[in-house]
Amino acid sequence: MNHAGRRDKLRKQLKREGLDALLVTNFLNVTYLTGFTGDDSYLLVTPTDAIIISDLRYDTQLHDECPDVELCIRGPGTKMLDFVVKTVEKAGARRMGFEADSMTVGLRDAVADALPKVELAATSGWVEELRMIKDKDEINRTRVACDQARRAFEVVRAGITPETTENQIAADLEYQVRRFGGKGLSFTPIVGVGYRAALPHGMATDRKIGEADFVLIDWGANEGLYMSDLTRVLATGKISPKLRKLYNIVLKAQLAGIAAIKPGATCEAVDAAARSVIEKAGHGKAFGHGLGHGTGLEIHEAPRLAKGQKTELKPGMIVTVEPGIYFPEWGGIRIEDDILVTRDGHEVLSSVPKELDESVAG
Ligand code: ZN
Ligand code: ZN
Repeated sequence: MNHAGRRDKLRKQLKREGLDALLVTNFLNVTYLTGFTGDDSYLLVTPTDAIIISDLRYDTQLHDECPDVELCIRGPGTKMLDFVVKTVEKAGARRMGFEADSMTVGLRDAVADALPKVELAATSGWVEELRMIKDKDEINRTRVACDQARRAFEVVRAGITPETTENQIAADLEYQVRRFGGKGLSFTPIVGVGYRAALPHGMATDRKIGEADFVLIDWGANEGLYMSDLTRVLATGKISPKLRKLYNIVLKAQLAGIAAIKPGATCEAVDAAARSVIEKAGHGKAFGHGLGHGTGLEIHEAPRLAKGQKTELKPGMIVTVEPGIYFPEWGGIRIEDDILVTRDGHEVLSSVPKELDESVAG
């Protein structure tokens, strides 16, 4: 990965904003800009240098993962604040940006007290904006994360019986993702049998699959750094006409949303393409969330596919498309895939079958 190139892009932003340093305190942003995968470490980016402020636990890892970055490593019993101050003084920064979405008020005040001559400027979303456009390596890692999620799901799906519980499915998914080489799941999975599928973020319980005729599973794999995020509904009994009807509306909406993805399309237009299918079917009120979100180092990143989001899609963005219809008494249907924006349109990165007749447990 071209971490130096990413830092250069950030430096252009510094220059545009008249800053001579940015203190990066969001650990994932530090990872993105340097390749260092540990935490508890900050990065100071100046027009000419990049310095990681970390501690002795990470000494070896830092030398391995980011040999091109200067290191400021503190020993036991020393304070992070003192090393931040020392590094900023050494860099000679006069107007320093900080990440307002990550830095605590306490640290900000302490830095301001210790460096009275340095002007502090709040910044928001600078690195996150760079993170929206994935490079080749990030795309390939996301492909791996999608593949691990698919393989885990196939194994788990084949083993489901009426006695299987939501918790067992959640645990098996985690186990299988790790068996297929992933670091783990990308978030605590949602497994909802029957009416529990109407809870968009329902945690797994000991409810058994046989207690209803379908189950909703929302899961993803973390391949090491990058995340995938999928949702499928599996029929676990006889497919009722209601399930089939609602399922096919959501599937049609999802395909319409995916079809709308191309460079230049706004996020709200993609949301509308899927939402209008559900609205026309008379269920607009039952679709109470945005259509999707970016994925990457975090499971939810920019951009957001939702009403009012004017961001235009660009090649290299990866977004989920996940329309749903929910009825509290009955349950919910959601279908979710991960989509890469390409130069001439899009590519669906996740590949788990999603026709209802292919979505059967056991
Ligand atoms: Zn999901
Ligand atoms: Zn999602």
